[in-house]
Amino acid sequence: MASVDETALAQEDAGPASDRATRTPRRWNWPYIIVITSVHLLACLAVLPWLFSWTGVIVAAIGVIVFGQGINLGYHRLLSHRSFKVPRWFEHALVAVAICCLQGAPISWVTTHRRHHRDSDGPGDPHSPREGFWWSHFRWLAVEKPAAAETAAISRHARDLLKDPFYRRLQRTPVMQLVIFVPHALLFFAAGFAAGYFGEGGSAAAGLQLGLSVLVWGVFVRTVLVWHITWSVNSATHVWGSRSYDTGDDSRNNWVVALIAMGEGWHNNHHHDQAAATVQHRWWQFDATYYVIVLLRWLGIATNVIPVRSRRRAAQTQP
Ligand SMILES: [Zn+2]
Ligand SMILES: [Zn+2]
Repeated sequence: MASVDETALAQEDAGPASDRATRTPRRWNWPYIIVITSVHLLACLAVLPWLFSWTGVIVAAIGVIVFGQGINLGYHRLLSHRSFKVPRWFEHALVAVAICCLQGAPISWVTTHRRHHRDSDGPGDPHSPREGFWWSHFRWLAVEKPAAAETAAISRHARDLLKDPFYRRLQRTPVMQLVIFVPHALLFFAAGFAAGYFGEGGSAAAGLQLGLSVLVWGVFVRTVLVWHITWSVNSATHVWGSRSYDTGDDSRNNWVVALIAMGEGWHNNHHHDQAAATVQHRWWQFDATYYVIVLLRWLGIATNVIPVRSRRRAAQTQP
């Protein structure tokens, strides 16, 4: 990793507003634009009646929950905030699940998120809605970040992840993400094909139909849904909702996003107490992701689960 030079750090500090000022014309991140556009187009195939199956719909619904946890549990609460610990093999498995969501390598994701918390809705925030709602939702992804500023940001914000050779390899060789994503998509197709083939007494046409249905719904539609759910945490929960805490930014608690993002919509709570494994500050602010952590703790996989700030303080003051 290159050493951090001061100019790059200053550029990183200045954030997206500076990107626009210093880059004319703006340089587009074509690999990301192509991937995002292609998967959206492939997901549109779901409107074809021939590709509809209830199996595909159910696989997509379960997939949103399971693969969404790669992001919520893996990239966000574990890697970005270290709000609990798991064995290294489990952490890497979660990262592999997150890679199947096509949201980038863990080092980039965590760097972006930690920058977001460090300067939330300020000039260094990579995706503040103050730059425009659609900017915060996905347009920020379409702009190529200056390489030097990106390297500086990674050195500053993801030093811990750089120690892991698996994460370094994923960062250095982006195509490795496709090496994980493509076989997982083929696996979905193969499972669907086998179910259709054997379910219809050895019919290859039935196998092809169910295989493609599971591929379109269970992989492409699911990937698009998980994208927009994650992106709505960056956009909607900094625009709409209530605020329980004066966090110095625009973060809000949005129950709709909380519902679809398995708890992540209680975003003002999260900005108030970023270290805690839970964002459930009231009994009715259901945080499904936290209960997954509770389950993992019960199974003996998760340890050192960080409680909410009031409990941390109470524990500190105990004699
Ligand atoms: Zn936020
Ligand atoms: Zn966070």
